[in-house]
Amino acid sequence: MTDCIFCKIANKEIPSDIVYEDDKIIAFKDVSPQSPVHILVIPKKHIGSLNDLDEEDTSLIGDIFKIIKKLAKDMGVDEEGYRVVNNCGELGGQTVHHIHFHLMGGRKFSWPPG
Ligand code: AMP
Repeated sequence: MTDCIFCKIANKEIPSDIVYEDDKIIAFKDVSPQSPVHILVIPKKHIGSLNDLDEEDTSLIGDIFKIIKKLAKDMGVDEEGYRVVNNCGELGGQTVHHIHFHLMGGRKFSWPPG
């Protein structure tokens, strides 16, 4: 999608602080971190939100969670714990309409979320 900021990051049209990349997935530091570790993990192909997932995306989402597990270990937050967030739609708080998973760690998170 030409006007999608995360597609532009995936295509290296705009800079980002990339921490992981393969042929289907890219992970980069959130530009406005809300915790000491705050990484966004996205598929390179444009999927608008969780609502737009197809049956064929099942293994892609599984791979994203494998990368999240690896990154949590690499960032040193696996043992103390971390949070994975997907915001979907307006009430879910989604502001970038390319599906992404926040990997957040390095501080205590409260529940319920705001
Ligand atoms: P969400 O509110 O779940 O859609 O999250 C979007 C996230 O993308 C926010 O945490 C933003 O700080 C982050 N973000 C927006 N633009 C960029 C960018 N160019 N590079 C890195 N993170 C970004």
